Amino acid sequence: MEINFCSCCGAPMEKKIPPDDDHLRSVCTRCPLVHYENPKMVVGCIPTFKNQVLMCKRNIEPRKGKWTLPAGYLENKESVQDGAVRETLEETRANVRVMGPYRLFNIVILGQIYLMFRAQMADDFFGPTSESTEVRLFKESNIPWDEIAFEVIRQTLVDFFQDRKQGAYPFKIKDVKPGQIRIQ
Ligand SMILES: [Zn+2]
Repeated sequence: MEINFCSCCGAPMEKKIPPDDDHLRSVCTRCPLVHYENPKMVVGCIPTFKNQVLMCKRNIEPRKGKWTLPAGYLENKESVQDGAVRETLEETRANVRVMGPYRLFNIVILGQIYLMFRAQMADDFFGPTSESTEVRLFKESNIPWDEIAFEVIRQTLVDFFQDRKQGAYPFKIKDVKPGQIRIQ
C-alpha cells in the first residue's frame, strides 16, 4: 500500500532508490525513514473430519458468497501454524490440529504468498461466523467446484483429493500465473 506521509514524523514521502539499495522505495523527505513494502503471507487449512473437508461461504468481499477454505493474513508475532489454526477458528469455529504444510503458492503479481496446511478437526463442531455465512463439511463428490472463491483454493482441493487416492501428501510449491487470477 502507498503511503503519502511519514509514519514517524509526518513529513511527505517521496519515491527514490535509497543509497545501497536497488528498489524504488517511499522515503521520508525529512527524517531517515524508509517505508519497505513486502509481500503478505496468507495462511490457511484444509480441515478434515473423517473423509470430509470443511469449507466456508464468504461473507466478505472479494468473492462474497463463494466457497473457500479457511485462510487469512498472518499476524505479527504469530507462527504460520498458529495463524492457520486461528483463521480456521475465526472463520468456521472449528478446532483443528495442524498435520503438516501442504501447498505454498507464490502469487507474485498480487504480492501474496499462500501457505495451506492439512489439518484434522478435533470433533465435528463448527458453525457460521461474522466472516462466513455458512460452514459445511463436504465429501469429494459434493465439493461446489463451480462456486469456489479463489484459484489457489481450487488447486489445493484438486491436489488434495488426488493425493488422498495415493495416501501421501507431498509438500509442493506452485506459482500462480497472472492469467489464473480472478479479480472480482
Ligand atoms: Zn519522517
